Amino acid sequence: MIIGVPKEIKNNENRVALTPAGAKELIKRGHTVYVQHTAGVGSGFADSEYEAAGATILPTIEANYEIAEMIMKVKEPIESEYKLIKANQLLFTYFHFASYEPLTKAMVASKAVCLAYETVEKADRSLPLLVPMSEVAGRMAIQKGANYLEKPLGGRGILLGGVPGVLPAKVLILGGGIVGTQAAWMAAGMGADVTIMDVSLARMRYLDDVMPKNVKTMMSNEYNIREMIKHADLIVGAVLIPGAKAPHLITRDMLKDMKKGAVLVDVAVDQGGCIETCKPTTHENPTFVIDDVVHYCVANMPGAVPYTSTLALTNATLPYAIQLADKGWKKAAQQNAELVPGLNVINGEIVYKAVADAFNMPY
Ligand code: NAD
Repeated sequence: MIIGVPKEIKNNENRVALTPAGAKELIKRGHTVYVQHTAGVGSGFADSEYEAAGATILPTIEANYEIAEMIMKVKEPIESEYKLIKANQLLFTYFHFASYEPLTKAMVASKAVCLAYETVEKADRSLPLLVPMSEVAGRMAIQKGANYLEKPLGGRGILLGGVPGVLPAKVLILGGGIVGTQAAWMAAGMGADVTIMDVSLARMRYLDDVMPKNVKTMMSNEYNIREMIKHADLIVGAVLIPGAKAPHLITRDMLKDMKKGAVLVDVAVDQGGCIETCKPTTHENPTFVIDDVVHYCVANMPGAVPYTSTLALTNATLPYAIQLADKGWKKAAQQNAELVPGLNVINGEIVYKAVADAFNMPY
């Protein structure tokens, strides 16, 4: 199969959909890989590395879309790319269709086949192509939180791990899923006193088993949260209710009960946030302060670490890309049920119900 890897052109997107190592794997199997000039540079991969792996560098995005049977991307195509997409072309990328009607309409009109990373689903209902970004964001939440707790950055001037003779900081993590678990490992590793709150007893039993001694679990409810936030130095919001907006577990009126200079990192901000006062921010301007509490609410945290994010994402996408390239999308989906829910649009028809429902379009 002929595979095209365009350079991401969405604002501030430095990831790339295929690494030189991934290109080599595909080429080894008899496929042809075209990579747009400088597509990998933002993630630390030079054109010459792709060439050494056997790929061909094309000068323009147009040339890439023109030649490829399968386009591998990271973010959804933006408006300037719509006209480049051809009927029957397979697009394998994040789409998040339900949040943007013009994209959905454009992909229906293109008659392409759209396989969305975010809806590829395993039998246990987990989403294998979303997990890596949650892992990155979870670990990064503590790195950022520790940083903003420093006095010059507006924090209360406390070191997460303390030092001998001085107590460590208290870290409260709301939601013990992928983000929360990775955040807890990082905070615990730095020596903080960590509490994870979740509503799932089964999940907390598991976390209690695997986490080190400085991580405790506690049932998430309003009473417990109101009590815990009084003592927390750093709070990480990591709640997810699939298909719904995150609940506001910390409301505006609760900030006054928190310590001055405490830090809130609301990772769930991309789903509306689980802290009422959190509004999406950017890497250029990541924080704001309300009631002396520092808020960090960057909606695309993995974007700041494109090297790690690209490798984490492509580790997860490459096995699927290989199946799609070896067999074509139809046979690959017949033989691997995980790919079926990934199919959102096929040759002008929406085949994913939630996307059709979002815009009252035929399904
Ligand atoms: P997940 O499904 O693995 O975990 C969510 C957890 O929240 C579950 O354990 C669930 O039981 C728990 N939960 C549900 N209701 C709760 C409540 N009332 N109180 C406490 N816990 C509750 O999800 P995840 O992959 O960890 O993702 C968490 C959030 O982070 C999502 O909104 C996701 O979109 C977001 N995210 C953001 C970024 C970013 O850059 N900002 C990156 C990746 C993920």
